[in-house]
Amino acid sequence: MDRDQVLVLNAGSSSLKYQVFGTDGSVVVKGKVERLSGEDDHARALEQVTGELRRAGVDEEHLIGVGHRVVHGGHTLTQPSLVDDRVLAAIQDAVPLAPLHNPPALTALRGAREWLDGTPHVVVLDTGFFAELPDVAATYAIDRDLAARHHVRRYGAHGISHEYVARRAAEHLGRDDLRLVTLHLGNGASAAAIDAGRPVDTSMGLTPLEGLVMGSRGGDLDPGILLHLAREAGLGTDGLEDLLHHRSGITGLSGRPDFRELQAGADAGDDVCRLAWEVYCHRVRKYVGAYHVVLGGADALVFTAGVGENAPRLRADVAGGLGVLGVELDPDRNSSDERRTRTISTDGSPVAVLVVPTDEESAIAEATRSVLATGSAPR
Ligand code: ADP
Repeated sequence: MDRDQVLVLNAGSSSLKYQVFGTDGSVVVKGKVERLSGEDDHARALEQVTGELRRAGVDEEHLIGVGHRVVHGGHTLTQPSLVDDRVLAAIQDAVPLAPLHNPPALTALRGAREWLDGTPHVVVLDTGFFAELPDVAATYAIDRDLAARHHVRRYGAHGISHEYVARRAAEHLGRDDLRLVTLHLGNGASAAAIDAGRPVDTSMGLTPLEGLVMGSRGGDLDPGILLHLAREAGLGTDGLEDLLHHRSGITGLSGRPDFRELQAGADAGDDVCRLAWEVYCHRVRKYVGAYHVVLGGADALVFTAGVGENAPRLRADVAGGLGVLGVELDPDRNSSDERRTRTISTDGSPVAVLVVPTDEESAIAEATRSVLATGSAPR
């Protein structure tokens, strides 16, 4: 029997997705369990997934390895790695830096290792791509010694997606020296500046809270707001954590956690939704402008993930404010709903605008195969 399949498990804060890939990259089976909250839910979700996989005939006879997405590798874990006790401890140590994301990943990792204990397991980090950020982008301007003692630096997130779409964009435009601004706009959202495949800056920071406005996270804030609310509203660390993770972003602004609902509200003339929409777009444009300068001029802008791939109005509103960079969208190309890498700017636009469907699972499968074949990931 051929032992050539890779199972990918992607445990998010509220979902568990799985995909099994054949050697040629074909998808053998895929699925997801959603709306999970709490450890018990995640453990039950894994049981459900293992049941579904067994019924689909996925087992140790067929699997060459299991690839796991892990959001935060902390300061020690950056490269895709074979799972051992040291790797598990590093992911555990990084839990305070990604309290919503690393615990479900650990639950999936431990459960899957019990189920498939004769199969190698590999972790692929969302922070990994950004381990090479230049110091000037990774360094926070606070007390140097304190920052060093507590490993405070910009780690970034969504690196698997940013790296993947940057590669697809380079293929699509036939150039590997591209200066790119990539916009991963999903429930979480982040921007990255990428020069010839290397990251030079990104919007997420020590934790996945910084940067763009997201579904329920507000991104950039004056840190004084937290001090003010601690003193004036009596919020402790739990209250602040709840505010930052669950009661901010478009949820906090409009009460609508899903971007489609926000758009429907804005279309219906609801001022609260419209303001949230504009705050979201304004923040994206600020980052594009900043990264254009950081890159010394961007060649292309890439939209990806749930919102970036599926919301043409959002892309038009963001790009509409980028005329100063020469960005010019082609309305017909922008409104097409083809699910493939494509250019949506005019042929004359000095900065090309692309939509690139992200595929974190296939990137994880590829990195997993590479670790199993060579002991390290592709670069
Ligand atoms: P995750 O970060 O959970 O992987 P996704 O990348 O799937 O998230 O993005 C989820 C977001 O994409 C949700 O806010 C959802 O409303 C939004 N989205 C999905 N489809 C559309 C669409 N057709 N128009 C606007 N937003 C969409």
